[in-house]
Amino acid sequence: MKKNIRDFNLNNKKVLIRCDFNVPIKDGKIVDDNRIVMSLPTIKYALGNNAKVILFSHLGRVKEEADLAKNDLAPVAARLSELLDKEVVFVPVTRGEELENAIKNMNPRDVILVQNTRYEDLDGKKESSNDPELAKYWASLGDVFINDAFGTVHRAHASNVGIASNLEEVGVGFLVEKELTELEKLDNPERPFTLILGGSKVSDKIGVIENLIKKCDYLLIGGGMAFTFLKAKGTNIGTSVLDEENLEFAKKMINEYGNKIILPGDVNAFKEFNNESSNRIVNLNELEEDEMGLDIGPETVKTFSYIISTSKTVFWNGPLGVYEFSKCTKGTEDVLKALVDSHATTILGGGDIVAAAANLGYKDKVTHASTGGGATLEYMEGKELPGISCIPEA
Ligand code: AMP
Repeated sequence: MKKNIRDFNLNNKKVLIRCDFNVPIKDGKIVDDNRIVMSLPTIKYALGNNAKVILFSHLGRVKEEADLAKNDLAPVAARLSELLDKEVVFVPVTRGEELENAIKNMNPRDVILVQNTRYEDLDGKKESSNDPELAKYWASLGDVFINDAFGTVHRAHASNVGIASNLEEVGVGFLVEKELTELEKLDNPERPFTLILGGSKVSDKIGVIENLIKKCDYLLIGGGMAFTFLKAKGTNIGTSVLDEENLEFAKKMINEYGNKIILPGDVNAFKEFNNESSNRIVNLNELEEDEMGLDIGPETVKTFSYIISTSKTVFWNGPLGVYEFSKCTKGTEDVLKALVDSHATTILGGGDIVAAAANLGYKDKVTHASTGGGATLEYMEGKELPGISCIPEA
């Protein structure tokens, strides 16, 4: 177990907390504040323990001057202030006198939010390349460092690995702790262990498949990526999306682990890649040459649901159809329903599938909905996460 915020005496200390406030902002307004809400337990704990709380986060990408204004963290400070019901002082710079004075003037239980850490990327990618001088400087502003930004733990940046490497008292926050506790359940999963993968690209999932194919009992594949595996088996896929480059990989997996890999047998087929196109449910052996599968069909839903009902652990990444089209949400929705109706430990891994579960009101009914897209996948690939490995064990 990694050191945790509870392991430190925070009284009157300057506590640097790396949060993930990378929220969608449109016309200066926050569209979805979920990430800010999720950071509250750690921030409140620090305040409750009389700390001076200094918050860091990235927002979007900053490559050129024009990216600065649209990635300003000021709206986050305002929203956080509402949620905490107390003043959050926003410091619009990432270094210098203004920041240092603001920290000097802090009292216990005060909160400061520092400007977007990626503003430092404008000058030679200092944040993203974990510039040693920047890391030292940020670390010098505090006494304790807490990493609570799970979404970036797969990256070694100055605001996570950099600060952690320059302070003695370093730990994770409650959000990161929960992510690790839940994802670690997949290291030794209760069996049967089922992996569900969807989305369009095989390439993004190769690492996960390679790492988990031996460990899992079933691999259910839907979404666009299923067609590369179907093609590898010699099934007709019409004009469905094909990832040519990974056809050989798919063939290899089918040859070696074919008994574990369950592919769609029927699809919701469209003539064109748009929601207005005519569509029909069809078995793959009846799919016309000019039709493409944009969602799994009801027979496939039944098969997937049955396997889920017999599983003890399920991990799912990627939608099973083109979730953006209203006619193609059913497969994902129906399988999500089977998931929440099951008795399995159920873990959703990042991005689209968590958003889908949230829209349907299922997010709170799964065991865990992981917040880190790339970070979750890299964990599932068995890769080391630099933002975690730099934190000492408790
Ligand atoms: P990924 O980024 O690889 O997880 O893919 C997510 C995307 O996969 C979503 O935008 C979906 O629209 C897309 N997708 C899901 N099913 C299909 C399909 N059958 N054909 C094409 N794209 C799909």
